[in-house]
Amino acid sequence: MKFATRSIHAGYDNAEHSKAVMPPVYQTSVFEYGHVGESMPFVYARTGNPTRAALEACLASLENARHGLAFASGMAAIDAVLRACLKPGDEVIAVADLYGGAYRLLSKVMEPAGVKITFADLSDSRNLTALISARTRLLWLESPTNPLLGMVDIAELSKIAHAHGSRVAVDSTFATPYLQNPLDLGADIVVHSATKYLAGHSDVLLGLVAVNDDALHREIKFIQNAAGAVPGPQDCFLTLRGIKTLHLRMDRHCDNAERVANYLQSHPKVERVFFPGLPEHPGHDLARRQMRRFGGIVSIWLKDDSREAASRLAERLRLFALAESLGGVESLINHSYTMSHGGMPPEQKAQLGIREGGVRLSIGIEDIEDILADLEQALAD
Ligand SMILES: *Cc1c(COP(=O)(O)O)cnc(C)c1O
Repeated sequence: MKFATRSIHAGYDNAEHSKAVMPPVYQTSVFEYGHVGESMPFVYARTGNPTRAALEACLASLENARHGLAFASGMAAIDAVLRACLKPGDEVIAVADLYGGAYRLLSKVMEPAGVKITFADLSDSRNLTALISARTRLLWLESPTNPLLGMVDIAELSKIAHAHGSRVAVDSTFATPYLQNPLDLGADIVVHSATKYLAGHSDVLLGLVAVNDDALHREIKFIQNAAGAVPGPQDCFLTLRGIKTLHLRMDRHCDNAERVANYLQSHPKVERVFFPGLPEHPGHDLARRQMRRFGGIVSIWLKDDSREAASRLAERLRLFALAESLGGVESLINHSYTMSHGGMPPEQKAQLGIREGGVRLSIGIEDIEDILADLEQALAD
């Protein structure tokens, strides 16, 4: 079946749930045994819950995967994958322009626990060939990246990693399964912060993982149960509900972002626009091959490269809320320098192109005329 149909139906059989059309919220921590030693599908809600199981199966279908796993947040999902794949003495090679939370987890938690972390610019695959060794057990990719929408070649990098016996994980939050399927490109693990586009309404925190390999699934599921960072059934329900309109929302996010990128590109106050759909974007050709569309995030550098200019823009915008996060139905503006990347050393921000006068826009699904008018008035003299 096609994506839109699977997003609405996959993973849920209402015959098993009193014919309820929507997956019920199983608000229970425990399930009753019929007799001692009975084999039961659900026993205790940390180990498994029917609402969560429906979400996990749905995500697996959308990523063309055999297995899905849900966590209390995107970070809990990333943590479980890292713990399942790495032990002290192992090395992980990660993209340099990594999500701030993943950077913190790797450098402040995994590294002190004895895992070697190497950050690299992997937009050129040859950089991986130069760095990878027998010690490398995991390649951690993100594409597109935050906030400047860098792209890495998932298929090419996966080949190199596999030739050296390393697994490959991709944080595909910005793309969603509607725009990109990393497992089909050769990756072993795909991770999502469903908090963003998948749930899509800025009302839930949740993480998802999909894999094909049965043994790898068992290892991550073991951590899921052992550490217990699982989502509650209500959050699973909200995410399932969000996923049913993912294809509609993503198409509108993509349409609106294309219009915004084109508008801003010719604006006299804007120095540079970062959007994979623009032919001059460094990852444009790769994005055309690897993604079905270009996503809903647009970042800009203002000509006036100052915190004041970014702040003025954020304050003047009426539709766009100045907030962390992205991927909800409403438009948001983020000052990456002080917000999402506030904890990063200034030298590193400079290297990655994260400037005081730069902002990331999460383009919502409001009417495009209103979005453009808001930008126009906010950028006026
Ligand atoms: C938000 C985000 C995360 C973390 O997800 P939470 O649900 O906030 O824990 C991880 N990766 C990316 C790319 C994100 O945008």
